[in-house]
Amino acid sequence: MDFSHYTDQPVDLAVALINTQQVEDDLISDSAQLEEFLDQFKGMWKGTAQAPKKEELQPIRRLRESLRAVIASDDEVSASEQVNKILESYHAVPRVSLHSGTPHFHFETTGASMCSWLGATTAMGLASVIVEHGIDRFGVCCSGDCDDVYVDTSRNRSRRHCSNTCSTREAVAAYRKRQSG
Ligand SMILES: [Zn+2]
Ligand SMILES: [Zn+2]
Repeated sequence: MDFSHYTDQPVDLAVALINTQQVEDDLISDSAQLEEFLDQFKGMWKGTAQAPKKEELQPIRRLRESLRAVIASDDEVSASEQVNKILESYHAVPRVSLHSGTPHFHFETTGASMCSWLGATTAMGLASVIVEHGIDRFGVCCSGDCDDVYVDTSRNRSRRHCSNTCSTREAVAAYRKRQSG
């Protein structure tokens, strides 16, 4: 499926950020890990947002919780309420960006702190999914050992796992169960 330019990267970033919270592990447990994580997305924020500061670790973890609540929402009303709350508190301001050569919308204030850029950008990504594709695109992995979230971009909306690793593991487990049963 073709998510728009604006949707693609912010959605990937939102999902990646939420999934730094693993069932038994936090992949951004200190500011060095947070920096490493954000480095992977440097192309998006360099020149727009400030580099992450040490004291932003906790606020960014709280943001992560709020983003998860959007994806885990049971219905459209609560998903929209949750995402609107984030958009408002992180000041998602529309602006025309020319960085790719073609004018398109970004929702960010320039020169913002990392936390505020991150909040505005990731929430806007999730908001675009709700508006353009619907909340049934959001999912939490069906594997018992994993609660990673995903955004389903498959044509027939058939996705149930966060990754091939999880769907393969579940398929193998189901096969073994059938064999032994
Ligand atoms: Zn752009
Ligand atoms: Zn999974």
